[in-house]
Amino acid sequence: MRRQASERSGTALSDSFGRTVDYLRISVTDRCNERCLYCMPEGYKGWAQKEDHLTADEIIRSVAAATELGFRKFRITGGEPLIRRDIIEILSGIWELPGVQTLGVSTNATHLGDLAPRIRQAGVRSLNISLDALNPEIYHRITGGRLESVLKGLHKAHEQGFEVIKLNCVLLRGLNECQYLPLIEFAVRHGMPLRFIELMPVSTAGIMDDPRFLSVEEVFQRLSAIGSLSAREDFRLGHGPARYYEFSHERLKSPAMIGFIGAMTTTHFCATCNKLRLTADGKLRPCLGRHGEIDLRGSLRGGGDPLDAFREAVANKPENHEFLQAYEPGRPMTAIGG
Ligand code: SAM
Repeated sequence: MRRQASERSGTALSDSFGRTVDYLRISVTDRCNERCLYCMPEGYKGWAQKEDHLTADEIIRSVAAATELGFRKFRITGGEPLIRRDIIEILSGIWELPGVQTLGVSTNATHLGDLAPRIRQAGVRSLNISLDALNPEIYHRITGGRLESVLKGLHKAHEQGFEVIKLNCVLLRGLNECQYLPLIEFAVRHGMPLRFIELMPVSTAGIMDDPRFLSVEEVFQRLSAIGSLSAREDFRLGHGPARYYEFSHERLKSPAMIGFIGAMTTTHFCATCNKLRLTADGKLRPCLGRHGEIDLRGSLRGGGDPLDAFREAVANKPENHEFLQAYEPGRPMTAIGG
């Protein structure tokens, strides 16, 4: 049974730039059963040791500490979070905490065929599902995975009555361009918003010169040329930076809801940033696009006050990411948590 928020769940912190920070994205593992070429560099061997991963209890204690500082929104990610054997324990432990308002999961959907009902029962309201292609060969080339298991998982999740299921597609010139319209049609058929995400230099350097880089603006122009896009400035889904548009096209029975996440080319992208990341090995990361991390694991294991680690991380949030300043990747996305 879920407890109500108590006075212990405090008011939210603001960073040095006046942004309210009340959203924590938690990676529960750096491991993944897929090998997305933009996420995990080929031959990557920098895995965290098992004993360095936060335990289920430590993750739940981290969330409890965060709620005391006014964090209300939580999303579980990885690596692939659903490969963790104790994932249901983690999800229900978080959902039972007073102060937790929303709990979402980001997943590649391959394990949803088995887990979707238990994830829904554990309190999860929203799923973000990565889907870069609907053509099985293209899907395999990008992710190393099998589209069939993804679609099975997606359909199972669809039956479970999650409040929101969003689809995420990373834009990759020369790899999945032919998939955008089929993905939009699929999204409309299933009543799911679809977000197009610009490639970020988290796992490989020099993204702006990378032949695969494709800007959200270019995709926006292409869609405008074949249909009509109208801004839905009023529309917010989840707690992230996507800008939403309704897209109408002769092949669609109803308009698609499309989000654009242009971390590299959208000016003021960071202006509304409201989040911290917690890595699977217990580091708080104030910004995806800057290297500094603050050790929370040490505090959880007896070396200090976890609340101080959260306060320090919020105080260390930079105004903007450094992706455009010759950023050199450190830990890849799979290790930071997407
Ligand atoms: N395994 C889960 C999944 O597939 O969604 C969760 C983790 S994954 C790292 C989360 C998100 O990060 C995915 O939507 C993926 O598209 C995005 N991502 C990973 N590397 C990226 C990169 N270099 N640029 C942009 N997005 C990236």
